[in-house]
Amino acid sequence: MSPAPPVPDRQAAALFVGSHPAMDFLNTGYAPQGRPVEVIGDGRAFLAWLVAARLLDESGALALKRRLGAKALDELAAEARRVRAWVCDWVSRWHEAPDDDARVELRRLNALLHRATSYREVVATEDGLKVEERRNLESADGVLAAIAEQVAVLIANEEPDLVRRCSGPGCTLWFLDRTKGHRRLFCSAAACGNRAKVAAFRERQRG
Ligand SMILES: [Zn+2]
Repeated sequence: MSPAPPVPDRQAAALFVGSHPAMDFLNTGYAPQGRPVEVIGDGRAFLAWLVAARLLDESGALALKRRLGAKALDELAAEARRVRAWVCDWVSRWHEAPDDDARVELRRLNALLHRATSYREVVATEDGLKVEERRNLESADGVLAAIAEQVAVLIANEEPDLVRRCSGPGCTLWFLDRTKGHRRLFCSAAACGNRAKVAAFRERQRG
């Protein structure tokens, strides 16, 4: 049996400091100053995060909730947390040793991607009728596949060296360094960057 998740923290703020949707997903579990915060601790919290992350709009969230019910939604949140733990572990290893064999991980990721369902919709635009592809996110499979899609895009398109964790003491947040010089160190300049500056200042005062 997997260990019980931390008690869902209704006040836990979803953070979008990762500069990539997959990083933001990993950041739904973090530990500022060593105190674990769980953003997607139950189905309700997970739905709220999906809306905040713009994977679902309000009506999509309502439809998913109605379709699944509270219990299945809690199970979906639990599965999302398991996927997150696995991706977190994989991305850490990928960062450390990008050339390592990842066939097992890719198989697992592809199995998640395979759960996606999409359909075509005809929409009227100024230039006439257009056929557009829509993803079905009103199922557990669809939601997990959408998250897997973001992980796939990260792994396929980004440099493992630029996928990092914050250098702030005790901070576990992830980010993709999109800065020009690739010298980003912190989840946010306002939080950890500032704390590091204050610590360095105190260090200098002491010295
Ligand atoms: Zn940080």
